[in-house]
This record gives sequence, structure tokens and C-alpha cells, in this order.
Amino acid sequence: MTKSPSTLFRPKIGKMAAYKVADAAGLIKLDAMENPYHWPSDITEQWLDKLRTCHLNRYPDPDAKELGAIIRKLTQIPDQFDILFGNGSDELIQILLMALPTDSCVLAPEPSFVMYRQIAQTLDLNYHSIPLLPDSFELDMTTMLDSIKNYQPSMVFLAYPNNPTGNLFNKSFIIEIIEASPGLVIIDEAYAPFADETLINDLENHDNLLVMRTLSKLGLAGIRLGFLIGSTRFIEQLNKIRLPYNINILTQISAEFALTQQDLFAEQTEKICQDRTVLINELIALPEIQVFESAANFILFRTPANQATSIFLSLKEQGILIKNLSPQPGLLTDCLRVTVGKPEENQAFLSALKKTLAKI
Ligand SMILES: *Cc1c(COP(=O)(O)O)cnc(C)c1O
Repeated sequence: MTKSPSTLFRPKIGKMAAYKVADAAGLIKLDAMENPYHWPSDITEQWLDKLRTCHLNRYPDPDAKELGAIIRKLTQIPDQFDILFGNGSDELIQILLMALPTDSCVLAPEPSFVMYRQIAQTLDLNYHSIPLLPDSFELDMTTMLDSIKNYQPSMVFLAYPNNPTGNLFNKSFIIEIIEASPGLVIIDEAYAPFADETLINDLENHDNLLVMRTLSKLGLAGIRLGFLIGSTRFIEQLNKIRLPYNINILTQISAEFALTQQDLFAEQTEKICQDRTVLINELIALPEIQVFESAANFILFRTPANQATSIFLSLKEQGILIKNLSPQPGLLTDCLRVTVGKPEENQAFLSALKKTLAKI
């Protein structure tokens, strides 16, 4: 008789829930912060021409050097800093946390990106979440600074703008946290294309600061490419635990090509930001709904008490998939999150929402 998973594997794994991705087949998909636009056909043709040159029989460049040079230039990364590529920034979070000894302390605000907790717990790290202030979703600095002092976290994760709340934390608070932290502070800038704010220029002043980016929210979620920027001292160590070919050849070629299309992405993100304003204003006009400001490509809103799940399900029945955050305990009670889609998708969402609200 072979041993069961529960005796072979770490006990924690048996108790974990898999990261569930909702099935969006046949639905208008406004749940995952994707850019709703693809490419015009002439650009698709140029991309396919590039793909024709690629040798699938060969391993990819393990260091993705060409891509690195393009990203350095576009992101204006100062020469003295290094980049680490990940199969999505999810993998970078995993690489960072894998570097820590068991029982190290990791700290992040709550609510924030769920992968910080999920991966930290998988790796038997001590994950401490510090509630944000209710409704403003600002960092609770007294508790943050006390916790940094008491727990001496090896890593602090801050999403800037934060997911799922959409706000940018006060930058001077972030600097205070970086200066008070004995370990690394990772600023997760997944929504940088929509936010006009970054800590890349602060890297030079803070040796314990790392800035993480991804191409996913820009419009390339399918290729899975994230990158971490920081001092060579840390990046070269983290690079040792990265798997050698984590960025496959199709991703490298596609990203190199896509990043030459800056005008297209600029136009798309500009449009998404404009439509975000339209959508926020339409939601504000609904008296039953409390809307939160957003510097990202999604909007968090609160429904009347105990209605979030039934509203979510009613929208789904009407063909609209958004994200239900209300089952999470804490500050997200009664909250739903909608990604900004194409204007007609946003309108379909709004009219389905209005129809639903009229019935309760
Ligand atoms: C979406 C998201 C990520 C993950 O991005 P991938 O590069 O697609 O893995 C990381 N951090 C935050 C805050 C996100 O919202």
C-alpha cells in the first residue's frame, strides 16, 4: 500500500484551498483585470511573422537578455539595478518567499493581493496581515510600524495601487515603512499602466526596496511575464533559485514584439482610464451603491447589506461575470469588484446591476 498524500506531503497542503478561477465561458468577463482589447489585424500579422522565426526545438535564452534590454529602456530602470524575470509576477512572489528560511515573518496589509498569503503559508512562513483603515483603505501606520518593530518581517509586500481596493497608499507612508523595515519591502506595481505613480525612482535611496511589475494588466496576461527590479545584491541571490528557462521562447518573442507597440498600449490604457471615470460616475449615481476611488483598471463597490452574493449571482445569470469579495472576512463585507471592460461591456454590467437593484 502506498502512502496517502496526507502522510507524504506537508499537512498544511491538505488543508489548503486551490486558487479557484471562475469559468467565464459565454459570459462578459469583467472579473480578472484583463485589458479587453486585442490587436488590429496588421499588428497581429507582424507578430505572427516574428513567431515564424522562432526555433521551438531550442531552449530559450535563460536570461532573456534582449527582452531585458527593451524593458530597461522602456521602464527607465537606472543602470545599476538588476532585473529578475518571472512567469508572471506570481512566480516572482514565489521566488522571493522561497528564499526565506521556514518560520520567517512576512507582512502585508489586508485586504491585499491573495497570493502573498497563499504562497507564504504554503512555504510555512509566518504571514501577518495588518488591516487597512476601513473605507479609506489607507495603511494603518500605527499598527504597521508597531508590527514591523515587533515581528521584524523579512519581507513586506505592498501593492501600489492595491488590489482589490484600487487605491494608491500615501507615498510618504510607504517610504516610512521602507525606512522602518529591517528586511525587504516589495512594491507590487501590477497596475502601474493605469496609475501614473511608481517607486522606481526611489530605488536609489533605499537598498531594501524592490519594485515588481507585470505585463498582465497592460494587455498581455496570456504570455505570463513579470519582472522584479532591485539591487544586484539581492537579485543575484534570487536568480539562483529561479528555474533556468522560466520564460519560454514564445513569451520572449511575443513580449519583445508587443513592447514595440507602445502607441497601441498607450491608446488602450488611456481609453480604459477614461472609461473607468465614466463607470465610476455611473456607479456613484446609484444611491444603493458605495463606490471607492480607483487608480487601477477595476472598481470596488459596496452593495446594500447582505446583498453582495445575490447581486453577484444575478449579474452572472444575466451574463456578466465580476468578482465577489464579500465571502472574505473583514473590510470587504458586501463588496464586489468589476474590471473596466469595453464601453458596451460596462453598459451591459450597469444595466444588469440596475435591474438587479430595482428588485431588492
Ligand atoms: C494581477 C496581480 C498580480 C499577478 O500578476 P501576474 O503577473 O499575472 O502573475 C500581482 N500583483 C497584483 C497586485 C495583482 O493584482
